[in-house]
Amino acid sequence: MITINEFTEKASEYYYTRLSSKNMGIALKVHTYARRYLGNFLFEENFIEIPPVILSPITDPLNHPTLDPVLSCYGHQYQLTKSMIFHKQLALLANSKIFCFSPNLRFECEEKADSGRHLFEFTQLDLEVKDATREDVMGLMERMHVGLMQYCNEHLQNELKELGRNLKTPRAPFKKISYLDAEAQYGSDFEDALSIDNDEPIWLIDIPLDAREFYDKEDPEQPGILLDMDLIYPEGFGEALSGGEREYSHDRIVDRINKKKQDVEDYSILLEMASRGLVPSAGFGIGIERLVRYICGFKRIEDAAPFPKVPGRLCI
Ligand code: AMP
Ligand code: MG
Repeated sequence: MITINEFTEKASEYYYTRLSSKNMGIALKVHTYARRYLGNFLFEENFIEIPPVILSPITDPLNHPTLDPVLSCYGHQYQLTKSMIFHKQLALLANSKIFCFSPNLRFECEEKADSGRHLFEFTQLDLEVKDATREDVMGLMERMHVGLMQYCNEHLQNELKELGRNLKTPRAPFKKISYLDAEAQYGSDFEDALSIDNDEPIWLIDIPLDAREFYDKEDPEQPGILLDMDLIYPEGFGEALSGGEREYSHDRIVDRINKKKQDVEDYSILLEMASRGLVPSAGFGIGIERLVRYICGFKRIEDAAPFPKVPGRLCI
């Protein structure tokens, strides 16, 4: 086993080499331009930016296991934010279109270190719109994505050339495929195949209820199927975002928590607020490091972040 000192030596070499590389300089420039474009785009669309939440008694339960440290403080238990889904729903009481560049902490299992797309600390551009349908926010994303690709090709021409990246600007509307059709066509583990098979982004829609969390809304016309979606990048880069319409009525949320065999007690604050009245909404969250990786055409997500948190590793 490697000693702490050996690791420290190697870690400093690892970080020193990466941080002083030309690619890291370019990745950070892409990051800056992308965040600036996205923030301006949403500002022009009358979105209000809300500050991030890092600690809370409630956070996204996710649909896959993670290691979940709890912080005890002032006699209360706080979790680290895995996503701001519930805070987004609550913030819609203040403004009808909101977004946040939200740091998320998800201590993913170590096997995900090799996926090339998982970190245990990353940032989502997370947004939510009151009274919107899934189709409304898909349309918004298409305009934003097409605009961003044009912006990068216009302003980062030299950087993309340096990376040898031919970044295509797709045409909206993007293609759509239902989860069940994707499964029938490519098998149960279809994300990579679907992504490799397409040279433009593709929407994955109508995800079955047990494949997602309790807060995505069930389609009243197709019980067991959710009004939600993922956007899949082309060329094998995989999932870009997840989103959908949300459950907002107290009784529906309780029913969905029960169906997931989760504990309603864990969500008592959310449920009390829901009984006062939440609003219908739709939204999504885009992973920023995955976006930078896609724009740059990097094999691994680590190359898109200066201080990447790789599952299972000691990271600075
Ligand atoms: P989710 O709602 O869980 O799909 O998360 C929203 C988006 O955040 C995903 O579509 C990814 O782009 C990004 N994301 C989720 N988990 C991670 C992770 N562990 N590392 C990096 N990005 C992630
Ligand atoms: Mg997802």
